[in-house]
Amino acid sequence: MSAKNQVPRFATVEDVITELKPGFPVYCLRPAELRRQASHFLDSFPGRVMYAVKCNPHLVVLQALYDAGIRHFDTASLAEIALIREHFPQADCYFMHPVKSRAAIMSASQVYSVDHFVIDHEKELDKLIATTGGGDGQVVLVRIITPVHDAQYRLSDKFGIAAAAAPELLRKVHEANFQTGVAFHVGSQCRNPQAFVEGVNTALDVIEAAAVPVHYLDVGGGFPAVYQDDRPPALGHYFDAIAGVFDRSRLRGDCVLMCEPGRAMVASGCSLITQIQLRKNDKLYINDGIYQSLSETLLGEIKLPARLINPDRSIATECQNFRIFGPTCDNLDILPTPYYLPVDADEGDWIEFGQIGAYSSSAATRFNGFFPETFVAVDAPPLMPE
Ligand SMILES: *Cc1c(COP(=O)(O)O)cnc(C)c1O
Repeated sequence: MSAKNQVPRFATVEDVITELKPGFPVYCLRPAELRRQASHFLDSFPGRVMYAVKCNPHLVVLQALYDAGIRHFDTASLAEIALIREHFPQADCYFMHPVKSRAAIMSASQVYSVDHFVIDHEKELDKLIATTGGGDGQVVLVRIITPVHDAQYRLSDKFGIAAAAAPELLRKVHEANFQTGVAFHVGSQCRNPQAFVEGVNTALDVIEAAAVPVHYLDVGGGFPAVYQDDRPPALGHYFDAIAGVFDRSRLRGDCVLMCEPGRAMVASGCSLITQIQLRKNDKLYINDGIYQSLSETLLGEIKLPARLINPDRSIATECQNFRIFGPTCDNLDILPTPYYLPVDADEGDWIEFGQIGAYSSSAATRFNGFFPETFVAVDAPPLMPE
């Protein structure tokens, strides 16, 4: 096992700060919380649960999910497939990117025994037939466009075939002797369970019109996490809504229902310790920002729970709004919403951001020489929004 599988373990975030006095950002993973969220999906989602690796591929995260029982991984590149197959040989990878290079398809199929693929265009099917030789137990899912409701990110702008054109593509998949499936993604951080209901209904219409046997229905990711000032319905409402519409359909019984959450599985399982490098009135310059772990605060307008920490002094109870600036020289590198923190926040203090397990370290760049790469495990519960 790689050393990345083992990280230093601390009881609390305060212990991390006391011990390391970190002048660099530190990701505080919460393995127990990761296992809890994975178990919640496995126990309550009415079908097979995959994890979308791109959301957070750190080995401690993957190991926690695996320990909870996750055995299916949504992968989108050869590097992600290799990561999973090498560390978790018993687990299955699903190649869920609708646009793949021929070399990636060939290696996935021949080297890593991947046999589930997603397409959204006939030319991608031709590629799959040419590179794999056509259906030999392999599964090809057709990704369709579904109505968007209350999602923070619209993924159907980029991928998916229109529902009206999908039945013909599904028939071609069937004629090429692949097992068939239909997949969709309602968009990330989707705050309305009805989006999944309409997604399933759209998929059912496509399947009805295709009139070929369909073995898989994949409702994708998009399940929401809890953020500051953002309290979507509990996951159980989503599971119940999906179960309700799936159970009433004629697919029940001979079709595998699947989901592929990323964000909702891991967001709560990590926080981030940053340090204030300079204060100018109500401006705080910290050592992480838009180009590292905090890109979603800008791109997704996501506001994170935050608290000021300094074990060496007593901190004021009165708070005020601060603007927070990231470490790079770029003027995009400013958190778009103010943060309400103690009035005496100053250089050398630390700010912990919670709910940062999703799309943080996995989306960080090396721009300007700032690249957070320190991970620890913490036993204390996650930092939740007020
Ligand atoms: C990113 C992605 C996911 C995970 O989405 P979340 O919104 O993080 O749950 C699932 N499936 C596919 C195909 C994706 O691209």
